[in-house]
Amino acid sequence: MNRHLTESARAEAADVRRFWKGLGLPGLVDVHTHFMPERVLRKVWAYFDALGSLTGGIEWPITYRQEEGERAELLREFGAVAFTAMLYPHKPGMARWLNGWAADFARRTPGCLHTSTLFPEPGAEGLVGEAVAAGARVFKAHVQVGAYDPADPLLDGAWGVLAEAGVPVVIHCGSGPAPGKYTGPGPIARVLARHPRLRLIVAHLGMPEYEDFLDLAERYPQVRLDTTMAFTDFAERMAPFPRRALPRLAGLGDRILLGTDFPNIPYPYLHQLEALERLGLGSAWLRAVCHDNAARLFGLRGDGSGRGDEGGDGSGEGGGGGAVGRRERRGR
Ligand SMILES: [Zn+2]
Repeated sequence: MNRHLTESARAEAADVRRFWKGLGLPGLVDVHTHFMPERVLRKVWAYFDALGSLTGGIEWPITYRQEEGERAELLREFGAVAFTAMLYPHKPGMARWLNGWAADFARRTPGCLHTSTLFPEPGAEGLVGEAVAAGARVFKAHVQVGAYDPADPLLDGAWGVLAEAGVPVVIHCGSGPAPGKYTGPGPIARVLARHPRLRLIVAHLGMPEYEDFLDLAERYPQVRLDTTMAFTDFAERMAPFPRRALPRLAGLGDRILLGTDFPNIPYPYLHQLEALERLGLGSAWLRAVCHDNAARLFGLRGDGSGRGDEGGDGSGEGGGGGAVGRRERRGR
């Protein structure tokens, strides 16, 4: 299975697997990983490569630059039983092409949740409907790169289709690493006011406006947050998570989902997991975040199975928000 992987990649994967096995999990579900057409990905990498000189400060050396097949294989070797292919247009006319590519990628890539994207353009609602009918399990929207208002009337029908279908949307709407005209909690709050049942997954935990996005999650029970890059040494230098908000993370423990930004990260994959662990919110919280919450959301088989009766370490550890503490039995 791991025919492409080097010795050091296999050793790294063994370390990652030790992490989730230690929690008694059957693997990880990573809701925020990037796979996209090669020439688009090269442009994304070029952006990060240039960041140091552009900002005169922050370097963003990408850790995982292997070719596509090897990257997917490495992710599976880490134990990601399900992951996404986050991709996003920056102009009209791109979404259909990206969605076609992503549908094919999901077909040929075991473990990949069929991902789609959208853009405010005439016909957006129809395109989103087509993608849902074709089996899209999750969408990605990028308010900063797309430079659009998520409350744009051109998207209203599309949000309606997604809310109706219950298909989650991972949305980069926080103002990190750089703000955009429509980033921050205001514009997306207007979308939620119109579509309160929309299953939004706020990427990067809303970095750096963490607390504003926690407010939204507390107000709307279908809003979730992904952990992508949050709490890592890298993110803490740029946008530290406020310690006073830790109890709120615990309270929302059934709606926080592991995301990593693999492969576009300037540190090893394991660091994201350890960054979650060192929050000290306990094993039950970690199990929910690293696997169970997303498994339930996506109706993955094996959700919670194979460990419920193990007793494990960690039971009775503090920090649990109510919902996480309760043992989730297979939802469906
Ligand atoms: Zn990302």
